[in-house]
Amino acid sequence: MADTIFDKIIRREIPADIVYEDEELLAFRDVNPQAPVHVLFIPKKPIATLNDATAEDAALLGRLLLAAADYARREGFADQGYRTVVNCNEYGGQTVFHLHLHLLAGRHMHWPPG
Ligand code: ADP
Repeated sequence: MADTIFDKIIRREIPADIVYEDEELLAFRDVNPQAPVHVLFIPKKPIATLNDATAEDAALLGRLLLAAADYARREGFADQGYRTVVNCNEYGGQTVFHLHLHLLAGRHMHWPPG
């Protein structure tokens, strides 16, 4: 898989506003926020898109969601609500090909998304 900007963030080669890290995951603020809170949760394992995840990654994907929910609780907006999004490939609007979960909060979200 090609090296992406997120791999550079994992290796600390470019700066990011990191809000959470453990052995398997990293979370940092989106550089172009689409809501008052916009954090990206990524696995350190290089998985390009959701299509590239396998059954072996099931626990890792679960941890990604749970880390987002934990962050929402810690930051105090869990009850108010938030949105999580995984964009996949062209029609999904994915531009960085390292799997990531967007966590958006702090305003009312619209449905359907654009
Ligand atoms: P989109 O760019 O359409 O939102 P993605 O779902 O692939 O598609 O999301 C990539 C996200 O990564 C974007 O929200 C973008 O603002 C963010 N991003 C790109 N480069 C950086 C960076 N260096 N630091 C933090 N976020 C970044």
